[in-house]
Amino acid sequence: MNTLHTADMYNYGTLLALLDRHQNFALSTHINPDGDAIGSELSLYLFLTQLGKSVRIFNTDAVPVNYRFLPSWDSIEDIHSVGTYRPEVLVVLDASTLERIGKALAATLLPTHTLVNIDHHATAEAFGDINLIKPSASSTSEIVYTLIKHHQTPISKACAICLYTGLMFDTGCFRYSNATAETHRIAAELIEIGDFAPDEVYRHVYEHIPVSKIRLLSEILRTLQVTDDGKIASVYATQTMFLKTGTTSEAVEGVVNQIQAIAGVEVALCVCEQLDGSTKVSLRSQGQVDVSELASEFEGGGHSRAAGCRVVMPYLSAITALVHTAQRYINQPSTRCGDSLKD
Ligand code: 5GP
Ligand code: MN
Repeated sequence: MNTLHTADMYNYGTLLALLDRHQNFALSTHINPDGDAIGSELSLYLFLTQLGKSVRIFNTDAVPVNYRFLPSWDSIEDIHSVGTYRPEVLVVLDASTLERIGKALAATLLPTHTLVNIDHHATAEAFGDINLIKPSASSTSEIVYTLIKHHQTPISKACAICLYTGLMFDTGCFRYSNATAETHRIAAELIEIGDFAPDEVYRHVYEHIPVSKIRLLSEILRTLQVTDDGKIASVYATQTMFLKTGTTSEAVEGVVNQIQAIAGVEVALCVCEQLDGSTKVSLRSQGQVDVSELASEFEGGGHSRAAGCRVVMPYLSAITALVHTAQRYINQPSTRCGDSLKD
């Protein structure tokens, strides 16, 4: 594994030269893609297409229904379409590690020339031949925005709404501390270019909740446990709940943020039982604990205030292990974690 060099971090010029030089691109992002994952890959897709490049997108998981209003969302293919196709350049966005695009896809989608990694995670690995990793960016979409600006190609309307969706999602609708003055300025510019109504984007992403998800939410909230000191709150979701409510683990997205909003809670966690019996863990912090460090003890990662991991243990054991570890972090002399918040 490469270590991260400062020179890798803001490598816009090198990357733009590479994009200009090649013709054939594939893009991918992490499993269970969110607004920034989809927004950043679609915006890069639209930009490269505008330059006359041949571009394909391959994701392990389907586009969640609430992002199916975005331009070109239906151009996203799955692993079955890869076949013998080999892009010259593979660009991986928002993924932290190459494996997070899905192990099978990472082993199938092999570039003939260059692997590019664009990311803003504090725990991002420099797995690419070219790494554009900027933890101070609100989102991977913000990095793609800056990249396009460096190219001096006008941002298209379609591209603007994809970039805006990524920014909006990863800043928790501009609520988190990673939403800086600069992020707001970029958002304003994108609204003007894209000529869309921001409230409509919000509604697409957050207010098309299927009733089955609300039923699942009520099941999950019933599992709420808070430690005696009130600082750690946890909930869990099981396969039985998904069967009962007709949902999948995709519907668990966002639940942890509600748990984090409980007064006095420093660390919130939501664990989700996977089909193979392993457990996906989502962690959120109010600032006292760096949950990306906590997650890395379980081979995960993320940001100081939003992180996650997958553990090979049943969900109840996972809660016990995670709460125990979170308690240790809370009992440590507090070093408030920094800026970066979400995805
Ligand atoms: P979420 O809880 O919303 O799924 O993820 C929160 C943050 O943690 C995101 O930035 C996400 O990319 C990161 N994250 C979640 N799960 C994992 C994981 O298994 N490994 C790593 N490295 N990061 C993760
Ligand atoms: Mn992101």
